[in-house]
Amino acid sequence: MRIGRTLPPAAAPLSLKEILSGLAALVPGTASQERFQAELREYYRVPHVFLLSSGKAALAVILLALKELTPDRDEVLVPAYTCYSVPAAIIRAGLKVRPCDIDPQTLDFDWDRVEEAMAGGRLLGAVSTHLFGLPADVERLKQMAAGHGVTVIEDAAQAMGGEVGSRKIGTMGDVALFSLGRGKALCTVSGGIILTGSDELGGAIEGVVRTLPVEGCRETLKNICYALALLVLVRPCFFWLPKAVPFLKLGETIFDARFELKRLGGFQAGLSKGWQEKIVALREARSKSVSAMITAGICGPVVSGPCAANIIKFPVLINDFDARDRLLSQSELQGLGISAVYPGTVSKIPELNGRCVGTEFPHAEYVAKRIVTLPVNPYVTSSDIKRIYELCKRYSA
Ligand SMILES: *Cc1c(COP(=O)(O)O)cnc(C)c1O
Repeated sequence: MRIGRTLPPAAAPLSLKEILSGLAALVPGTASQERFQAELREYYRVPHVFLLSSGKAALAVILLALKELTPDRDEVLVPAYTCYSVPAAIIRAGLKVRPCDIDPQTLDFDWDRVEEAMAGGRLLGAVSTHLFGLPADVERLKQMAAGHGVTVIEDAAQAMGGEVGSRKIGTMGDVALFSLGRGKALCTVSGGIILTGSDELGGAIEGVVRTLPVEGCRETLKNICYALALLVLVRPCFFWLPKAVPFLKLGETIFDARFELKRLGGFQAGLSKGWQEKIVALREARSKSVSAMITAGICGPVVSGPCAANIIKFPVLINDFDARDRLLSQSELQGLGISAVYPGTVSKIPELNGRCVGTEFPHAEYVAKRIVTLPVNPYVTSSDIKRIYELCKRYSA
């Protein structure tokens, strides 16, 4: 266990001012959710915006609405290497997971595999994922989905504030979701956002959301405590502390399909105040670290060009399996915040037993065994980048 300066793998720090805005939003009649929703509608120029208790709740709600519109389909296409919350939301919505192999060069779909998955007539939706903020080719998936009646869901959980050319990430799919959880591009402790330009889908989602309760006192109290803890503990000088507490399970990937399905509480909506400026500032801070890493000679799957500015963690593939383990333990010792991310492919999640279609995903397996992510959050200094570069160089031969 390390005691001393330790970088978090990802962080969008909260300020005391934001926490005070969150608390002010608890005064009855402040309608902070309406304010946040209206701001999102204007910023993203979409007619339908919904606020949920988490990113996975947002995805589950989208799927429940789709299921109502197209009850004869029950499968959802996802990248075989992605966040475990994605299959959890699919199971929560009573649907089946159909993983699709990925391209190790882009971490997006292996396009040769998408075609055959589309053809079966069972697909309700396909999830295009901006993993680590790396822009996915949503347009290509939409073109492939078009003739098959498959809805393209843009999973922008890690990519709020990202842009591709003049287009904002979150406005490219038929429907999109953001996460406001810890370690995401923007954090309000917890929360999820749905955006859609489709009136039909917007209406169906509205129907589902209307039946959900708003987060209550228990969640609000928990979120206030969490926000106060984050305010202090996410800083590198204290981050070793929560890491040392085993029951917090920091950095562990857990599959949990029994999460709360609720509407976002007023406290988190209040915390979001000023988010428009904040996502721009966070993107700028991260993109400085990314540029410095690229200049130093670190390279990973398609982290290049203007799109590199969107990433919240820098993915790198370490070819030798043992070298990767040594790199991770050296990073632990030095507190450099390099992370092993998701431990395996979606198809290997034991809890999916029988609810997962297909078994062989060689490229996703390859990536799962080799990937690490480097921190690019606002706490990363140029001397951290030097040390991270030295470690990567030593272990990636
Ligand atoms: C975090 C994440 C989610 C789920 O968001 P939560 O707010 O944690 O529920 C979904 N998809 C991806 C790619 C994520 O990284």
